[in-house]
Amino acid sequence: MTSGLTAYACDPSRSRGRRHPEPEAPTRTAFQRDRDRVIHSTAFRRLVYKTQVFLNHEGDLFRTRLTHSIEVAQLGRSIARSLQLNEDLVEAIALAHDLGHTPFGHAGQDALNEAMQALPADGHAPDGWGFEHNLQSLRVVDELEERYASFDGLNLCFETREGILKHCSRRNAERIESQEPGGVARRFLQGGSPSLEAQLCNLADEIAYNAHDIDDGVRSGLLTLEQLEAVELFDAFRREALAQHPSLRGRRLLFESIRRMLSEQVYDVIAATQQRLVASGVRSLDDVRAAAPIVRFSDGMRERSSALKSFLFHNLYRHPQVMETTGRARQVVHDLFQGYLADPAQLPEAYGRAPALPRAVADYIAGMTDRFAIREHERLFGAAVFP
Ligand code: MG
Repeated sequence: MTSGLTAYACDPSRSRGRRHPEPEAPTRTAFQRDRDRVIHSTAFRRLVYKTQVFLNHEGDLFRTRLTHSIEVAQLGRSIARSLQLNEDLVEAIALAHDLGHTPFGHAGQDALNEAMQALPADGHAPDGWGFEHNLQSLRVVDELEERYASFDGLNLCFETREGILKHCSRRNAERIESQEPGGVARRFLQGGSPSLEAQLCNLADEIAYNAHDIDDGVRSGLLTLEQLEAVELFDAFRREALAQHPSLRGRRLLFESIRRMLSEQVYDVIAATQQRLVASGVRSLDDVRAAAPIVRFSDGMRERSSALKSFLFHNLYRHPQVMETTGRARQVVHDLFQGYLADPAQLPEAYGRAPALPRAVADYIAGMTDRFAIREHERLFGAAVFP
């Protein structure tokens, strides 16, 4: 066991291994090596030009998928350290968790999924996988990265891949299971949980986007500080900050409130998880995998976090201005998909040669940055969708 970590933490020296066996690195653990491979990947660099909520060209200070992933890694490591879990694994999972995101955030994913599901039965046979961004993140690290001489993908450890595959439909889990029996999809078929490190990345993701979407929402002018007074989780810290610094206003009040809210959520996860660890009696990683999820908010924080999520959904993600952009983004992805399918000569050579054209098109589009997708759409269809 790596010294200083608990018996139920993931131990790199006892990893379930890589799909293609490799000798150990001389100076790094297996999980440190995974993190380094993610950072050096092409897909990771593309995250800087991919949308989180606001399109990349809408402003220089909004979160992108890259800064979001770095924030998730920071929160995750912070929680992992307190719980004596493996920080390197958390960092590797957090930095990789959004690698499969399409351009334009969820709008791009939905459009690509619809296009893949709606393929006509006569022309190009659909492969039935649809498009799921979690699955695509796994596909990026398993297949699509082309950097190493002896294998496709990044050949990451089981534990990192397990954390990346956060959700998966039953149908796709069955397909993965048939290719990799007893592998990363097994738990979606037979129940069970991923490692604690993987579980905490999910929560760190939620904590990160709740906080930064408030920040970006106010920065964009689509949300106001007054509106946020209706959100209990935020407003408690706004009032606390004002009580201690009565002259605080505007941006600085916003940042100070978010800072306090972030810290409180991290402390809450640590305390609630410690309690659950004791109550559940887990003693090993196998126990963790057999038990219900352990990393959690307290009931009160769960409720307040859900209320904040619902506020953001109704007031920011469904804001007419965001919806308008979303509609254009869906159109770009839809048009690109149909365009390449009708004329595969427009694809780069490597993609055009793929045996299953629709999947190759989906992989190509999913890898695009926002601005590349916009330029490519303009090249193929002549009109600028985002003038
Ligand atoms: Mg995320």
